Amino acid sequence: MSKDMDLKKHIRSIPDFPKPGILFYDISTLLAHPKAWHTTIERLADLIRPHKPDVLAGIESRGFLLAAPLALALGTGFVMLRKKGKLPGMTVRHTYALEYGTDTIEIQQDAVHKGARVVLVDDLLATGGTMAAAVELLESVGAVVPTAACIIELTFLEGRKKLKPPVETLLQYD
Ligand code: AMP
Repeated sequence: MSKDMDLKKHIRSIPDFPKPGILFYDISTLLAHPKAWHTTIERLADLIRPHKPDVLAGIESRGFLLAAPLALALGTGFVMLRKKGKLPGMTVRHTYALEYGTDTIEIQQDAVHKGARVVLVDDLLATGGTMAAAVELLESVGAVVPTAACIIELTFLEGRKKLKPPVETLLQYD
């Protein structure tokens, strides 16, 4: 696959979405381009492989788009971290602070074995609040999180400082 492909060309930035002052990085155009999407999955798989994951955990919903093909590429399982109330059976929740208010993510209690190496996957790292909450949730059900990975890092927000594990990112914006 195209090792020299410039993936940034396939990501749109949309000003003032979902609210004024936010520059939204839209991966729809990356998903719609078969070569660029394949290259994205291959490059992320190369970053994640050395961390020897047993399982990948995707954060709803754009994290699912990445974690499912990455799990196939790496030969691992895939677990879902969902917004509250979506998963059946016994679940564990973690509530975390947003700029205004709170949000809650949930995992099925038996989704991972104790001590499993679970790599967290999302599309974008901004302030790091979402990924930090996801790491806490995974650890609370006994997982070890060797790294968190995403396509885009907004470096000026220093989100990686909020995270215990190291973060692997493909594209950085400042
Ligand atoms: P944060 O918790 O601040 O790191 O925000 C990360 C989550 O919010 C990810 O799930 C992203 O999909 C979404 N997000 C935050 N900021 C942006 C942005 N500028 N463009 C696209 N998605 C964003």
